[in-house]
Amino acid sequence: MSRYWSDIVHRLTPYVPGEQPALAHPVKLNTNENPYPPSPRVLEAIREELGDAGESLRRYPDPTALKLRETVAAYHGIRADQVFAGNGSDEVLALTFQALLKHDKPLLFPDITYSFYPTYARLFDVDYRTIPLDDAFAIHVDDYAVPNGGILFPNPNAPTGRPLPLADIERLVARNADSVVVIDEAYVDFGAESAIGLIDRYPNLLVVQTVSKSRSLAGMRVGFAFGNAELIGALNRVKDSFNSYPLDRLAQAAARAAYQDEAWFRDTCAKVIASRERLAAGLTALGFDVVPSAANLLFARHPGYDAAALVSRLREKEIFVRHFKAPRIDQHLRISVGTDAECDMLLDALRDIFSAYVS
Ligand SMILES: *Cc1c(COP(=O)(O)O)cnc(C)c1O
Repeated sequence: MSRYWSDIVHRLTPYVPGEQPALAHPVKLNTNENPYPPSPRVLEAIREELGDAGESLRRYPDPTALKLRETVAAYHGIRADQVFAGNGSDEVLALTFQALLKHDKPLLFPDITYSFYPTYARLFDVDYRTIPLDDAFAIHVDDYAVPNGGILFPNPNAPTGRPLPLADIERLVARNADSVVVIDEAYVDFGAESAIGLIDRYPNLLVVQTVSKSRSLAGMRVGFAFGNAELIGALNRVKDSFNSYPLDRLAQAAARAAYQDEAWFRDTCAKVIASRERLAAGLTALGFDVVPSAANLLFARHPGYDAAALVSRLREKEIFVRHFKAPRIDQHLRISVGTDAECDMLLDALRDIFSAYVS
């Protein structure tokens, strides 16, 4: 607290990112990073962009990231003016809150969802109302048929990993024509259906994606929004009132190369999906209730052990998973899917912890 702070700063509740432990070899299953490196073409593209002496760094990057947007637009079969690129999808979401979701009627999002949403709402003074998930953590789109200034949720949802069928999303978007529906597809590549194919038909649909999870580039900070050119125009107006150059040169080159190596992308996604199913079976065998997931994470609770206690026991073994001290989910662990070796280390550690409890 300081008398120098702007008034709003006193009222913020900042998002707390998952821990980045300063250990040599942590088993890091707490921030949903990809366990595999990015495509080798990404490294080549970065080196090429740098040149021998880094001479390109002297100049500002393309403020519109046009080449990157053209590549990603072609990849999805849409036009570049239907694509916005920002500094991670977190920034894209922040701009979306300001550009499209601040109205007299409240923004709607689930009670259990990405915890950055209420943080942005407070920062940008956006009125919001939460809609409860059902007891199995499913979203029911009919619950959103109330007056609103916008609707926002991830598909698959976070931190549950539970996907929603595209038909449900289309139904929601079709009958919510008076405000924008934002689908945050951070995890879509691990098994859910993207809504990008609907943007030509629905001018009120914005789809947000990131290279952080399925393309192994969390460290580069690149995210996208896909939608009608009018929605993208609003994002550009806010961006150019805040930071004209959200994506540096290396990030633009790296993200572009990631979209040019489809084989690498498909292969790493397939490996993560296979490991997820294997880990889900292992956790179930240990007595966990595991939420069905289409993401690179599992949301699970053990009826016999306190979640916070499990997190600290695992931490002692340098295994990191995420826990949210929030209503309805404080007995759940959110476990990122690692390599099979990492998942086995987690399962072995849990077995150890459970046997120590008994003896
Ligand atoms: C990881 C995540 C993001 C943020 O991704 P970045 O592109 O790394 O900023 C956004 N939404 C959800 C639901 C996420 O899980």
